[in-house]
Amino acid sequence: MHELFLIGNRILGTLETYGYKGYFVGGCVRDHHMQRAINDVDITTDALPDDIERIFERTVDVGKEHGTIIVLIDDIPFEVTTFRTESGYSDFRRPDQVSFTNQLNSDLERRDFTMNAMAMDENFEILDPYGGMKDIEEQVIRTVGCPEERFNEDALRMLRAARFAAHLEFHVAPETENAMAAHAQNLEFVAVERCVVELDKLYRGAGVKAAKALMVKTRLKAHLAFLENIGDEDFLDTDVRSLENEIALQMWRNPGLEPHLHELKLSNDMKREIKDTTRLIGMLHRPSTIKEVAYGHDMKILKNASEIVELNTFTESKEKKDLLKSAIELKPQLPISDISDINLDGNMLMQLFNARGGRWIRKVFSAVEEKILDGSLKNDTKIIMEWVEAHVEYEAGDIEITEE
Ligand code: ATP
Ligand code: MG
Repeated sequence: MHELFLIGNRILGTLETYGYKGYFVGGCVRDHHMQRAINDVDITTDALPDDIERIFERTVDVGKEHGTIIVLIDDIPFEVTTFRTESGYSDFRRPDQVSFTNQLNSDLERRDFTMNAMAMDENFEILDPYGGMKDIEEQVIRTVGCPEERFNEDALRMLRAARFAAHLEFHVAPETENAMAAHAQNLEFVAVERCVVELDKLYRGAGVKAAKALMVKTRLKAHLAFLENIGDEDFLDTDVRSLENEIALQMWRNPGLEPHLHELKLSNDMKREIKDTTRLIGMLHRPSTIKEVAYGHDMKILKNASEIVELNTFTESKEKKDLLKSAIELKPQLPISDISDINLDGNMLMQLFNARGGRWIRKVFSAVEEKILDGSLKNDTKIIMEWVEAHVEYEAGDIEITEE
């Protein structure tokens, strides 16, 4: 039994001591049954949030109104959520009302797919009222109850179906898939941030290609920010392992997509990563040296671009792959990885030449940068200053560099 279940079992035991029932629930039970890796273990209980806070020593309120309290055992966080039912979804995305219940089955009934609607008790017995185990055996993703209703309640579930299809390499049950096709347009009501969480997971699954085909077939793709602007064929013929790389590659192919990037509401870091990757792929199509490629880009960007040209033959020639490979090898050996790593500061230059700041300082830095990168100058303040004294002439706000 996975260690997280053994530790989590102490929570079930404590709940029992106080007269409540607790179960492991959701993804962890599915993954345990499938003998897949387990990252986190969720618990569901008939204890109310206030009870949970009272019973356990270390808790964090992360959404009491939805019934969720984090309980820390040995510094490991466990989400403990009160059994609940949801009702009255009037906007396709969020229940109007969340009510607590003391019935495990009602809690399982509100869950999205049969494989996610199983619970496991303190003896590690699985409770499976909706046939999750059978569906797992048959590798089928099927909603709990009528798919039309379930997707009407929360349109995100359709994208979650595609995400699980990618992740587990399962197929979607025919009625569930038909309902996805019928309700795809309701995805437009779902907050883009929630969609991005699922897309991000989808792209990390082993079955991305099949999941993308499903998104085209059911027209989910046609109702997702940014992706809706990519032609179906372009969307289907890329081979990528992350959402970032999908976007970067599609933007390289079609620069007209860039104005839509903001629609995904990604973090600034992620947007920068994507744009840098797009730019690097473009750079590979112009003559550039290994050093320019290695020096000008973070390792993350080099690896993104390398993955893209490795997997997508239409972007590459052997030369480009090799250029990136060499750049990735060279990168850790470069004496500096950014101009800010140079051990020199502008004030020292102003003092040396008794001059005010200006563009000339940047020129000195560029000259020094080049020298350090080609190995002819050590990145040491004293040595750099000596070189500057010997080779830089300052006159009226400009400089001239004399080589020996
Ligand atoms: P993963 O291992 O990738 O986290 P997971 O099954 O744990 O997969 P989560 O998104 O963490 O997925 O959700 C936890 C559980 O909550 C699910 O297994 C499911 O039972 C339930 N759930 C999550 N989102 C929804 C939803 N939109 N509608 C209904 N039930 C949901
Ligand atoms: Mg989870």
